[in-house]
Amino acid sequence: MKLQGDYHTHTRFSDGKNNVIDMVRAAKEKGLREFAITDHSINKIINGFRGRNFDRYQGEIESARAEMPMLVGIEANVVSTSGRIDLDRRMEGKTDIVLCGVHVMVIFTPWAFLTFLLPNVFFRLIHWTPQFMRRRNTNIVTRAIRNNDVDVWTHPNRYVRLNVLEVARVCVERGTLIELNGKKISFRPIDFEKMRALGAKFIVNSDAHNTQSIASVARVEEFLKNCDWEQSDIINLNQTYTEYKNAKSTDANQDGNPGAEKPKRGIFGRRN
Ligand SMILES: [Zn+2]
Ligand SMILES: [Zn+2]
Repeated sequence: MKLQGDYHTHTRFSDGKNNVIDMVRAAKEKGLREFAITDHSINKIINGFRGRNFDRYQGEIESARAEMPMLVGIEANVVSTSGRIDLDRRMEGKTDIVLCGVHVMVIFTPWAFLTFLLPNVFFRLIHWTPQFMRRRNTNIVTRAIRNNDVDVWTHPNRYVRLNVLEVARVCVERGTLIELNGKKISFRPIDFEKMRALGAKFIVNSDAHNTQSIASVARVEEFLKNCDWEQSDIINLNQTYTEYKNAKSTDANQDGNPGAEKPKRGIFGRRN
């Protein structure tokens, strides 16, 4: 599977092993046409991105544009039960791509810690998540995607179990891409096919934390062998993310609907 771009990677700015320029050179060597660095946002414990480093982070990625087309990205965390995400004020308007997913080692609001994180950690330990908890998780992630400008929903269903179809419905409404994560896919081929039937669009990413793993998505290939799908379901196989976005905004303009463009990101990524 040949990717045009890899849009989920980490560097030493959060928990990756390599620095920005090494990652970019490796991406170029692998023949990618576009590349995004998407370090963990500020609420991730220990490995979280330090907000005060953001300017340096942005600077390093922007200078790497001498090597190849680059996007400044962030992988944000869901941090409250109302679906707030930790996109910092200092990052406002400075990101080209915002990924968002649920992570466990994150600073949540006290209410989310008690009623979202703790029960989910427990249910994960016993490998069974009751229906009421799945419902709650679905609602929280749905709110995060509805209330923020999220470009990609990362690793669906991995750390908390939920109804992927319901979240996918909101992703379709909002134009949010659903990730097929190179490290692990936590839903079934039948779920993928149902999401596809809803009109969902997908993006394949490595979630690389080192240079070697960039664009390595063998697991996604294995997964897709069991699915009914078409090249056009996955946006970064035939085009880059930027080409996809440009084509989308042209379509919206031709439909006489420039309003389809998402509003500018506000504080905490909320819509203004
Ligand atoms: Zn993640
Ligand atoms: Zn990640």
